[in-house]
Amino acid sequence: MAGSIRLLPVHVANQIAAGEVVERPASVVKELIENALDADARTLRVDVVEGGRKRIEVQDDGIGMQRDDALMSIERQATSKIEDADDIARIATLGFRGEALAAIASVSRFQLLTCRRGETVGTEILMADGKLQDVRDVGAPPGTSVQVRDLFCNVPARRKFMRARATELSHIRTVFFWYALAYPACLMTLRVDGRETQRLPGGASLADRIRDLYGAELLASLRPLDWRGANIRIQGYVAPPAWSRGDRSEQYIFINQRPASAPVIGYALREAYALPDATRRPMVFLFIDLPVDQVDVNVHPTKREVRFRRTREVRDAVIEAVGAVVGARRVMRPDAPESGVSGTASAPAVPPPPVSQEWTLAMPPPVRPADRAATILTEPTADAAQRPADPPVATGAPAAPGGSCASPWAWYRLLGTIGDGRYLLLETDGGYVTLDPRAAHERVLFEKLMAQAEAGDPPVQPLLMPQSVKLSPRDAHTLRRHLPRLKALGFGIDDFGDDHFKVDALPAALGETACRALLVALVEDLARGGTRHEGARRWTEPIARAASRAAVSGRDVRSEAQRTRLIDDLAACRMPYTCPRGRPTMVFTSLRELDRKFGRD
Ligand code: ADP
Ligand code: MG
Repeated sequence: MAGSIRLLPVHVANQIAAGEVVERPASVVKELIENALDADARTLRVDVVEGGRKRIEVQDDGIGMQRDDALMSIERQATSKIEDADDIARIATLGFRGEALAAIASVSRFQLLTCRRGETVGTEILMADGKLQDVRDVGAPPGTSVQVRDLFCNVPARRKFMRARATELSHIRTVFFWYALAYPACLMTLRVDGRETQRLPGGASLADRIRDLYGAELLASLRPLDWRGANIRIQGYVAPPAWSRGDRSEQYIFINQRPASAPVIGYALREAYALPDATRRPMVFLFIDLPVDQVDVNVHPTKREVRFRRTREVRDAVIEAVGAVVGARRVMRPDAPESGVSGTASAPAVPPPPVSQEWTLAMPPPVRPADRAATILTEPTADAAQRPADPPVATGAPAAPGGSCASPWAWYRLLGTIGDGRYLLLETDGGYVTLDPRAAHERVLFEKLMAQAEAGDPPVQPLLMPQSVKLSPRDAHTLRRHLPRLKALGFGIDDFGDDHFKVDALPAALGETACRALLVALVEDLARGGTRHEGARRWTEPIARAASRAAVSGRDVRSEAQRTRLIDDLAACRMPYTCPRGRPTMVFTSLRELDRKFGRD
């Protein structure tokens, strides 16, 4: 079996390395775009056919290569970007490992055409199966063009893992978007199956790029940020808390202009936003710049994860910079002398944050005096005999109609709230209940949506002002596949092309819900897959779950009347104890448990 040890042929070693660097067509696009940007490209064209499976071409007007360098570039561990091990500690280029071209060439039919700036004769190199086929001098414009055909033609196992054209394309477009955000000065175009689908002018600002890629509506809802510390600069835009989601796909984070992240940044963003739900990830466009010797980029083969020399300094800077703009928390920095951060939050140079529906929706609505009056007038109507005399707050309500055994309590009274409305406290017949109003609200809405969907013809509320929402390539791809289902459930959502969707109606039960947050929530849950049910029912549940989550996020129940109504609605639910995502809506503490704890048993 195992024979004697021998060195692998070079093209086989390259193929193995390709396994790390080249996972799918989008990885090729990423490596080629990085090379072009490292070569000082001002114009960059990406051209893909059949989701990149058939052909990928990336062309730049950068510095180009001489014949010898071109031949070197396709060797493994050939790079012009570092010279010795010390350089690894101060990498300022996107690439440095010197393995991308060799790896890509080993799993495709590969052509490199390159010409130094200022020269007229360039070099063409052809490779197949990782082996050199031909090298010749050719007339060429300055710059470099790399063409990759029939990716994985010689690696059947990999080829099988490639997905449908639309899926691979959405990955490619995601990569293109990331680098377009990082390099707004560069003119970038994307051609898909012969049609130019994206043309981004050069010399642009980050705001221009966000507008071109995600639409003016999205840009208008963002808040700008520009923060400087002793060592760190943080710039960019942050989105309203209600747009947060369960994954990191909309945290556009760049460290020294490289799309990358580190766990500490995710943590700092959660702190800065102070979101009630710790699993949510706010949407941000964040450029973090710090001295190159403070960042270790050589942690991961695709370089997406970095490590900081001084983690705390980065954490504190992000919390302070983002926290000041989001305004969700009072920024306190009691013990950071060692970290040496001394920054100033956005100066007047930054325009005042635009007022958008999303940011205002996220604020708790004021308590209206009318609500209070209604509360005080509420009279107990049942179980009066069982109530303790003289309740501190004159609210209360009977249990579910007909005394359904599903109701968690026979009677209750609202004692008040703790944590600034975060939890409600109820005395009940058996003890006391701590209730999470958001989770409760989600449960109530979810059951309403499910009941209406199952009844067949859900009441639909047309929007007075139809809204246009532009999604990321990945999200748009998911949503598109589910539009007919959503229509059947009362969502008036239309595909307007180029990842734009128009929302003109919603299931009436949702009330006023921010459309972008809603679409993103739908995408998140739909991407996770359907239930085990057959047919249309398979998707009703994820859709209702996402919609109720979006409708609740950024909204608060503040008045006593709203709270009482919510408690009653929850008690009438079929499954009142958990929210649709399976978290508890309430925690019950029995009198017996209290007695035991106080040693009364
Ligand atoms: P790395 O980018 O890590 O150095 P690559 O295999 O991606 O490794 O590229 C090898 C070398 O080829 C680079 O260091 C660079 O000198 C050269 N090169 C690759 N692409 C280009 C390009 N588009 N323009 C100019 N030089 C390039
Ligand atoms: Mg490279």
